[in-house]
Amino acid sequence: GTGARGGASSPWLDALAERFEGHRAALDALDQRSGDGDMGTNIAHGVRRASERGAEGPDRELEALAGAFLDEVGGSSGPLFGLVLSEFARAERRGEGLRRGLEAVQRAGGARPGDRTMLDALAPAAEHEDLDAAAVRAAVEGAEATKDLRGRRGRASYLGDRVLGSPDPGAVAMALMLQAVAEHDGV
Ligand code: ADP
Ligand code: MG
Ligand code: MG
Repeated sequence: GTGARGGASSPWLDALAERFEGHRAALDALDQRSGDGDMGTNIAHGVRRASERGAEGPDRELEALAGAFLDEVGGSSGPLFGLVLSEFARAERRGEGLRRGLEAVQRAGGARPGDRTMLDALAPAAEHEDLDAAAVRAAVEGAEATKDLRGRRGRASYLGDRVLGSPDPGAVAMALMLQAVAEHDGV
């Protein structure tokens, strides 16, 4: 079929929508401990809308994903994931997308690595030359390590010690998204 923007349906975006639907409840639960409980719903919505829009071929899928997040997802994660995905869509090489995405999120949101945000997954990945399996592993480990961080940005900053022991939902979701982008290229 065709998407809302006339794009052809994309099996990759369809599969990704199903995958993030599967992560929705766990990410919402993490955001209940760290924010307002909507992180999984926000991400699942963005990916679902991208799959409904579709893409004119595999090399337009990341652009479609970025557009859905920028246009249709609220919260902190919508625009910030949209920025990262836009940089991946635009970049010649994935390593470049990682570094530009990291810069873009820091510029837009004013956070730094260590503040308990999605940057704690993105920054360790961006230390790698390319978005390969090692970079994805670094993102997953960075996300896991946020369970020991207090929040200095976003809603988690109001919760003090109460967030400790549970990882930042945005960092966990960013690691999952980086894994998906890596898979898109067949890593
Ligand atoms: P909201 O708090 O508006 O409900 P979401 O639940 O969609 O936003 O996303 C929350 C996630 O956004 C957090 O877990 C954190 O990783 C990330 N985040 C919040 N503020 C910032 C920021 N200033 N810079 C980078 N990431 C941020
Ligand atoms: Mg939230
Ligand atoms: Mg919210």
